Amino acid sequence: MKLYRIRKSNIDRKGRGLYATKDIKEGARIIDYVGKIITKKQTEESEKFDNAKPIYLFNLNNRYDLDGDVLWNTARLINHSCSNNCDYNGTGLKLWVVAIKDIKKGEELTCDYGFGYDEDYKQFPCKCAAKNCCGYIVRAESRWRINKKFKITTKKNNRVNR
Ligand SMILES: [Zn+2]
Repeated sequence: MKLYRIRKSNIDRKGRGLYATKDIKEGARIIDYVGKIITKKQTEESEKFDNAKPIYLFNLNNRYDLDGDVLWNTARLINHSCSNNCDYNGTGLKLWVVAIKDIKKGEELTCDYGFGYDEDYKQFPCKCAAKNCCGYIVRAESRWRINKKFKITTKKNNRVNR
């Protein structure tokens, strides 16, 4: 029995997500992350990866990337959350999704998309609704930058309101 099933997502209202079909223990391998293995040169030359942030593009090693933006890659449906319960893992040219905490049956599976913090971050709002959600899809290590910004903005707004 598969550990996941596809359902309408609670995070991405327009899209789908993956949900646990039973309780999953921390450390369990849930689904393989598959796609087309392409060379770095192909990545550089492809318009597909020109702009925006390559959600489905993974660095495998010095020579190869994995483009997971293909229909047969069910794992691409996993949404980003600021309080993710899964993470990407891999070795060699293989990637998979692993549970990083115990997951209850029926919970939506989520990962950290790992986007860096840059001037584009506002293009990718996060709707994960986690308590610690910073409002944008940015990797955990960079979220403090946004939280800092939020605080500054709130202060300014208060001043204007008074
Ligand atoms: Zn969030």
